[in-house]
Amino acid sequence: MTIFDLSKPGRIARAQMPAPKSADDIPDNFRRKEPAMLPEVSELQVVRHFTNVSQKNFSIDTQFYPLGSCTMKYNPRGAHAAASHAGFTGRHPLAPLEFSQGLLSCLFELQEILKEVTGMHGVSLTPMAGAQGEFAGIAMIRAYHTDRGDTERDEILVPTAAHGTNPASAVMCGYKVREVELLADGDVDMASLSAAVGPHTAGLMLTNPSTCGVFERRIGEISALVHEAGGLLYYDGANLNAILGRVKPGDMGFDVLHLNLHKTFATPHGGGGPGAGPVGVGQRLLPYLPVPMVERVGEDTQEHAEDTPEGVEDTQCVYRWLDEPDRPKTIGRLSTFMGNAGILLRAFVYARMLGNEGMRRVGDYATLNANYLAKRLHDAGFQLAYPERRPTHEFIISFADDTKRFGVTAMDIAKRLLDHGIHAPTTYFPLLIPECFLIEPTETETKDELDAMVTALISIQHEVESTPEVVKSAPHTLPVKRLDEVRAARQLDLRWTRKA
Ligand SMILES: *Cc1c(COP(=O)(O)O)cnc(C)c1O
Repeated sequence: MTIFDLSKPGRIARAQMPAPKSADDIPDNFRRKEPAMLPEVSELQVVRHFTNVSQKNFSIDTQFYPLGSCTMKYNPRGAHAAASHAGFTGRHPLAPLEFSQGLLSCLFELQEILKEVTGMHGVSLTPMAGAQGEFAGIAMIRAYHTDRGDTERDEILVPTAAHGTNPASAVMCGYKVREVELLADGDVDMASLSAAVGPHTAGLMLTNPSTCGVFERRIGEISALVHEAGGLLYYDGANLNAILGRVKPGDMGFDVLHLNLHKTFATPHGGGGPGAGPVGVGQRLLPYLPVPMVERVGEDTQEHAEDTPEGVEDTQCVYRWLDEPDRPKTIGRLSTFMGNAGILLRAFVYARMLGNEGMRRVGDYATLNANYLAKRLHDAGFQLAYPERRPTHEFIISFADDTKRFGVTAMDIAKRLLDHGIHAPTTYFPLLIPECFLIEPTETETKDELDAMVTALISIQHEVESTPEVVKSAPHTLPVKRLDEVRAARQLDLRWTRKA
């Protein structure tokens, strides 16, 4: 039902308010010729309608949301509240430096924290999504090779399980993509890599832990092989949650990376909401980082703030932007100002809330929860894609058997999970495992929630074997049933038009 269906002529939201001012002072040529096409409803009807509509959605605030590779974890309200401070939200992006020292100090510290977390030498916060970070990273790889006159390198190597944005970013930067095979245990096939790597290799893009939910054990060997051939290593940081506080991509030999702050660092996401994909680089790529970055030019006097008499502003500029003139080899700008400031601030507050110990707990519990859930599902007879490997923060189960024996697909089972009040895990990704779920419970779920998912999947498996049509026609309890997903993506039409 749309809000227009509630409309009754003459009903009005300000029914309880005094009569509105007359509009006599608006010149005739600015007046509407016809009344605006608005629903005629009471204020309370508006509130109820939109509150009800909002609750028809699945969300991390209302349901378990184990969407593999997306890290749909709880984002602490404290981080949100601090980032929403009026001093931040009210700041104009063109405000002069002396009025922006607070924001710049947070961004500078975030750069420093992310350097520490990743083992990189420099960080730029401006990319506004993981995919944009990838684009920036590959552009830096290209700038590096070009700068050295090394122009024969026209290939980026990408393992077959990679996220679709990896090859897309490489192609957008003008590279050819060369696929690298994986072994049956999920690790990179060294023979396939050796065959692919050579004088044409500009770099290799790798996610570790990989999108197969396993840690790449030969990362040292891989990095040596690519470096010896003159290529660079790109780290897709979407899975950083698994290793936070334990392992640094810099120590694994990576030269450049992006992080998805909206996955790992406290921004709720989904549905295309705002994100941030900062990039980090090792020594060799430092000159090419996108601008602006933040530099500290003096001593931060914050610690002495207590000595400053009340009402006296310290206007000395300790922090400043680094722009094109400061960084002549930069690949340039990726956003109008400094990226998504609100998302960066949430990440800064969250990182400070966690501290070193908290970061380690994130990685530890994300991994513990995934291993617990994987073990319970395995014991219940579900098929792990890599049964001999210990999962990281996510793992894959395959329903290929159910498809063969009962004609029930992973998509059917995903839809049926919605009836149990659980958002479906990622389906059919990575592409190389047939009929799969990629399940990422995250560190913020309780054991009860994980147990409930096991119970739900066992009950669905029972239906698959006894009444498969119930599963194949799911969901049964949601306001919309199966959608034509291709049409929804290609011909999405959200306009409402008045009935004739
Ligand atoms: C999410 C994700 C990306 C892309 O990140 P966006 O922020 O959605 O652009 C890249 N790689 C992997 C493995 C991901 O999970």
